[in-house]
Amino acid sequence: EKLGIALVGLGNYSTNQLAPALQETQGCYLAGIVTGSPDKAKTWAEKYSIPAKNIYNYQTFDQIRNNPDIDIIYVVLPNFLHAEYTIRAAQAGKHVICEKPMAMNAAEARQMIMACEKAGVQLSVGYRLYFEPHHLEMRRLAAGKEFGGVKVIESGLGFTVPGPGSWRLDKKIGGGGAIMDLGVYAIQGARRTLNEDPISVTAQAYTFDKVHFKDVHETVFWQFEFPNGALAHCSTTYSSYVDRLYVTCERGWFKLDPSYNATGAQGITSRGAMNVPSPRYQQVAQLDAFAQSVLTKQKPEASGEEGWKDMKLIGAILEAAETGRKVAIDLRA
Ligand code: NAD
Repeated sequence: EKLGIALVGLGNYSTNQLAPALQETQGCYLAGIVTGSPDKAKTWAEKYSIPAKNIYNYQTFDQIRNNPDIDIIYVVLPNFLHAEYTIRAAQAGKHVICEKPMAMNAAEARQMIMACEKAGVQLSVGYRLYFEPHHLEMRRLAAGKEFGGVKVIESGLGFTVPGPGSWRLDKKIGGGGAIMDLGVYAIQGARRTLNEDPISVTAQAYTFDKVHFKDVHETVFWQFEFPNGALAHCSTTYSSYVDRLYVTCERGWFKLDPSYNATGAQGITSRGAMNVPSPRYQQVAQLDAFAQSVLTKQKPEASGEEGWKDMKLIGAILEAAETGRKVAIDLRA
């Protein structure tokens, strides 16, 4: 029996990635939708055979609690709504997947974790790359010291500025531009490859285009120091395209270029090609892993705690950029 998922927010990511991925999953399926648009409700109901009783809007959302078809609520809304809808989903007794960035800040992430614990439901962040074969291979190469210990990582993700009206440029809705939207990938490329958490950060923020970037940074660079002596230089920007994860070791290197986008990574090592498959939809493995966690009552790998950690790291990066000082990081605090 497959678990039923309801997608909340039928924007680009739900439409182009999650709904198609949910046609290929084994452990879960697209059972319901939450949308403010009657037109979208009609189109989706026809396309994916969703019964009327599993279609909600933002006024009827909390009634999902009475619907046994829905086991998991997947929050795919603009960032400022992640905490509210995750907490309401938990209070409705449903397991939750929340898109990245998990929240607007670390304090919200903590509240979301506590609400899910209190309700006895599982919480996951939509980190598709935790299950992507190239990223798993990077972790395997680093852990096995295939090229010796890792010394320096360069990790960056950037796209050209979203349209001027985009919520991603509005601090109250997106939370802070590229560092919130894309920075989380660059952070994870470094800490997930090393399987360690950074102990300090220095950072620099720049904004040249003052028309588009009124209250968010255009570009942020930061440098993480790791406990074993490895260093990572990371970047994120809304001014140009960059998508790569380079890992240099004592006796060679391995890299993904592109690395983070959903359309597929490509890898190479100093010994030659990295032969791993590229799934058509990376979210299939992510969604099935979460369904498995729910069934077996195991904490998901892409847990709320992982999202909380990334929110604390974004906070430390911004503090370092804004003060010009090196900021010590203790993720247990
Ligand atoms: P989008 O703007 O295309 O979609 C957002 C949807 O939310 C729209 O349908 C909009 O109508 C709806 N919405 C409901 N209430 C709203 C409100 N009060 N204000 C604004 N919109 C409201 O955005 P998207 O690209 O689909 O991103 C949605 C979320 O998914 C974001 O958190 C984003 O970071 C995340 N995302 C993740 C990935 C990934 O690879 N994991 C990729 C893209 C987006």
